[in-house]
Amino acid sequence: MVENNQNTLDPNIVSKILGLSEEISAAAEAAGRDPEDVRLMAVSKFHPAVKIRSALEFGHRLFGENRVQEAASKYSSLKLEYPDLRLHLIGPLQTNKVREAVKLFDVIETLDRPRLAEALSKEKKRKGACPNLFIQVNTGEEEKKSGVMPGNADSFISQCLEEFKLPVIGLMCIPPVNDEPALHFALLAETARRHGLKYLSMGMSSDFKSAIMLGATHVRIGTSIFGSRVAIGGS
Ligand SMILES: *Cc1c(COP(=O)(O)O)cnc(C)c1O
Repeated sequence: MVENNQNTLDPNIVSKILGLSEEISAAAEAAGRDPEDVRLMAVSKFHPAVKIRSALEFGHRLFGENRVQEAASKYSSLKLEYPDLRLHLIGPLQTNKVREAVKLFDVIETLDRPRLAEALSKEKKRKGACPNLFIQVNTGEEEKKSGVMPGNADSFISQCLEEFKLPVIGLMCIPPVNDEPALHFALLAETARRHGLKYLSMGMSSDFKSAIMLGATHVRIGTSIFGSRVAIGGS
């Protein structure tokens, strides 16, 4: 798909990003934190490149996508146009997509099992480079959610760092929809602290303030920036 919208800055997207940035800064200050330490990730899954372009033209640079294929189709050319664009993978990664994911993403947030760690480690050796990684923790121990179980998190984090020598720099979680998210954020923050991991990807539209209070460095927000998604499977 060829997009040609050089001067179509969507005022709605711009005002959403501005408003959220202010709310994030205020939440950081209320928590006694430096607002610079909390970043807004614009989650653009299911949204077309023209909307992403609006955010880019406005000056936003941090984005998240769930699927390797969809991200490649939208971001391969945008990354050439905006070399300082940063793209995070926040959806599950299959081992057979590792090579493509490593090529495209600046950060992979969903490392959650030894087989994937092994595949990433192989690709790192082959390429001589690897994106920074976050380990996803299934803090709610939900059967259908990816992420390492909290009881296995400590050993898995150590294994990734020591055995696989992977550049793990943070943790990520998606709390269960009907739970108090603060408990999950606190658990994630505590786990990161034990391992000296600096970054915490946690908090979405409805709960980012609580996440910031508990140490979030990356809040992931889609709908509140780009509007509602057309449901084509997944969430
Ligand atoms: C889609 C998604 C988001 C953003 O959700 P919204 O409801 O659109 O704000 C955040 N994190 C993950 C992992 C997602 O898949």
